[in-house]
Amino acid sequence: MNETPAIRIGISACVLGDQVRYDGGHKRLPFASDELSRHFDFVKICPEQAIGMGVPRPTIRLVGNPDNPRLIGSTDSSLDVTDKMTAFARDTAATLDYISGYILCAKSPSCGMERVPVYSDKGDGLGKIGVGLFAKQLMAAQPLLPVEENGRLNDVHLRENFVLRVVAYSRWQTMMSEGLTAKRLQDFHRRHKFLLLAHNQAIYRELGPIVAEAGDVNDLADRYIHKFMQAIRHPASIKNHTNTLMHIQGFFKEHLDADDKAQLSAVIKDYAAGLLPLLVPVEMLGMFLKKYQIDYLLDQYYFTPYPRDLKLRMGL
Ligand code: SF4
Repeated sequence: MNETPAIRIGISACVLGDQVRYDGGHKRLPFASDELSRHFDFVKICPEQAIGMGVPRPTIRLVGNPDNPRLIGSTDSSLDVTDKMTAFARDTAATLDYISGYILCAKSPSCGMERVPVYSDKGDGLGKIGVGLFAKQLMAAQPLLPVEENGRLNDVHLRENFVLRVVAYSRWQTMMSEGLTAKRLQDFHRRHKFLLLAHNQAIYRELGPIVAEAGDVNDLADRYIHKFMQAIRHPASIKNHTNTLMHIQGFFKEHLDADDKAQLSAVIKDYAAGLLPLLVPVEMLGMFLKKYQIDYLLDQYYFTPYPRDLKLRMGL
């Protein structure tokens, strides 16, 4: 992909294959190390190593109040790294405004994004109800940042949605770094129209009036991006994609002959019925777009949401 240079993604070091786990092992996610690495630069962090715990090291776990647990040795409760980890996480997370996403390691008391086991002071399991201490500070300091866990990225829908969010967020960061203007904000919104429609039509309709307002552009941008990231936070449904594809199809009605129209309709219908992946109608529309050069569609990110060779739309 040429348009967005050097997108950076934070990652738990063990998920990239570093042998930094308590037992000297790793949790390598081939999708990250072999595929995403072709397009993105990784910023790898092992919080436990960073606070001076060696490899191998004693295991630690979340203990006490699930909303505010302590990070304590699993077998030696005198080992308490809560304050060290919290300080490291807070300081580090505050500097990570240059990354566009983060891949965390599931279930870790430091890196887990959700469903991390918490224990009572007596050692009883309280359930998978915690968040790793590093992950918690990261998500608090960078609330817009797309964050996922290694295991969840094996799901084709979550994987596609994560990459889509990372690239969209990096476009936002680039726009902000180049200097925010009302015109740039309006262009950003216009070029994401069909992506937004495929994800959340209600929020799309709320965003239009925001970019059209005459107020302070920084304030508008702040309101805009929070809603924008909320809109694309979940994978788009087949129903919404189908509506979006049909909407785009309407732009070709003056150009296509009866045969092409019928073929396109059949392909969209087959996608809606689960008989074809999203890639097929999108490629077909892309082919017609190349041929008929419809201005309004040419720079829509719906056609190029992320690097094509990641093949993310094949499984949708
Ligand atoms: S889960 Fe986090 S703290 Fe644990 S080994 Fe991986 S990077 Fe280090």
